[in-house]
Amino acid sequence: MLGRRSAVIASLTTGALALAALVPSAAATADPANDRHAPPPKAPTAVGYGGAVASVDAEASRVGLEVLRKGGNATDAAVATAAALGVTEPYSAGLGGGGFFVHYSARTGEVETIDGREKAPSAMPHDAFIDPETGEEYPFFPDMVTSGASVGVPGTPLTWHNALKKWGTKSLRQTLAPAARLARRGFVVDETFHQQTVDNAERFAAIDSTAELFLPGGSAPEVGSRFRNPDVAATYDMIGHQGVGAFYHGRLAGEIADAVTSPPKTGETDLPVPAGWVTTDDLAAYTAPEREPTRSTYRGLDVVGMAPPSSGGTSVGEALNILERYELDAMSPTEAYHHLIEASAISFADRGAYVGDADQVDVPVDALLDDTFAAERACGIDPAAAQPKPVAAGDVDDYDGVCDGEAGAGETARDTENLETTNLTVVDRWGDVVEYTLTIEQTGGSGITVPGRGFLLNNELTDFSTTYRADDPNRIEPNKRPRSSMSPTIVLGEGPDGEKQPILAVGSPGGSTIITTVLQILVERLARDRSLPEAMAAPRVSQRNVAKTDAEPAFIDAYAGPLESLGHSFASTAEIGAATAIGIGPDGLLTATAEPWRRGGGSALVVRPAG
Ligand code: GLU
Repeated sequence: MLGRRSAVIASLTTGALALAALVPSAAATADPANDRHAPPPKAPTAVGYGGAVASVDAEASRVGLEVLRKGGNATDAAVATAAALGVTEPYSAGLGGGGFFVHYSARTGEVETIDGREKAPSAMPHDAFIDPETGEEYPFFPDMVTSGASVGVPGTPLTWHNALKKWGTKSLRQTLAPAARLARRGFVVDETFHQQTVDNAERFAAIDSTAELFLPGGSAPEVGSRFRNPDVAATYDMIGHQGVGAFYHGRLAGEIADAVTSPPKTGETDLPVPAGWVTTDDLAAYTAPEREPTRSTYRGLDVVGMAPPSSGGTSVGEALNILERYELDAMSPTEAYHHLIEASAISFADRGAYVGDADQVDVPVDALLDDTFAAERACGIDPAAAQPKPVAAGDVDDYDGVCDGEAGAGETARDTENLETTNLTVVDRWGDVVEYTLTIEQTGGSGITVPGRGFLLNNELTDFSTTYRADDPNRIEPNKRPRSSMSPTIVLGEGPDGEKQPILAVGSPGGSTIITTVLQILVERLARDRSLPEAMAAPRVSQRNVAKTDAEPAFIDAYAGPLESLGHSFASTAEIGAATAIGIGPDGLLTATAEPWRRGGGSALVVRPAG
């Protein structure tokens, strides 16, 4: 017999159960043949000039391209695209989440970043994820994530405001308007959105406001139907007209705090949905600061990434520093992937030991990105045999680059990061670049929609180590930002006059696999000399300092045999990452790329297609 929860899911899936509290359907069936708003066609690669946008979604990329066409710059287009993703990818990103915005200015030659990571409330206790009834941690999914306790103070609205103020030419009102129109007009439900809703139906049904919006009529919107969200349109309008203060202060702030501290739970659910701690004071106190980016070099190129609280910049940079010591281009695929896997395990060992929110813990960023440290860490790599994993972390206080000791065994870190989120890349006609990864963490975040406001709140606080340990850099603390893996990265090379100029921007969703996806794309492109579309399409492998390396089936088919004879072992995983990237040629030729098939395929557009 089905358990009660499974029975609810089954009936929601088939649409057989009409939940009494639900309002009539927000998703009306669309007839694609007569639909002047049918979804735009999507292509994963576009080559041309004058600006480019790449995202996972055709509607969102189109919104960004329109902004570029009408004279907006990369920041204007990035904010507009992100807001549109909040409509069409509401389970991955939106007003209720956070992210990291990385910007290159062609005028100043500088890469600067905004940290829009969610922050723990000031009353966050160390035992936030312990069930008082059992004294044990809540089961991770769906119990722990579906909670007010997991909600951090959102950073996305202030990221948009700050980015526009610093680099944009358009107002928040102008950049949110296309997304508001899209939300009113609706988008055509595809298989991915439908399936994500089905997969989360039990927990969405546990929250009145979420069931009302995302389970119209009691079931997931059908593929091909039109999904409208007038509530989020009104919220975008309000923030557009009144400014970002309308989110962090006043009535909406009060409603967010209420939804966290007293989640609008249905009477019908078995899920605990514990309350959280975000107050209006926490919202009012939130800042999205600029952070000095991480910088490392790879074969004469500058690799610029996101600093703590993200572990993206240090982890990608450290692994590249290790790999720079080898001629990957002269190696067989087996040898090259062996080194990639080993370097990745090492950088994850150091990430676990040292990286957290640098506002609260001492993160040795310089050591982690030091070539001498990389030289010493590379000592663990045997070209003929895989290291036993997990490998131990290095000693950031005592290293000289000399191989003289036995590395001990490490410990496996618990990995609770989800595999969703979204990423976008924009280049404008002036040569400015934005690489922006944004998230609400779990697919569907905390499952809590702010009633009447049309957006889900994040569950980003489950990115903390959920069990408290005083020596853990990612331990839960009040007013702290949980460690992220988001890795928006811009690579700069040398221009014709010796000046640095961007050649590639890349980022991906995928929880902790973000780091390995970005690393692998960089390695395929910069070391293995693949074209950018080939680098994006290459079967992915993800080693995160655990015994078995995750790999896509195509990777396993092509490479696992010889790698296993070196001592590697693999776990098959259907897909890893959903990246976007733009390559910038010396003559300004843009190669915009999104996923060819992962997450249903993405959408790359250029202002003036070549040829
Ligand atoms: N919460 C994750 C992070 O900050 C991202 C989640 C995801 O990619 O799905 O690294």
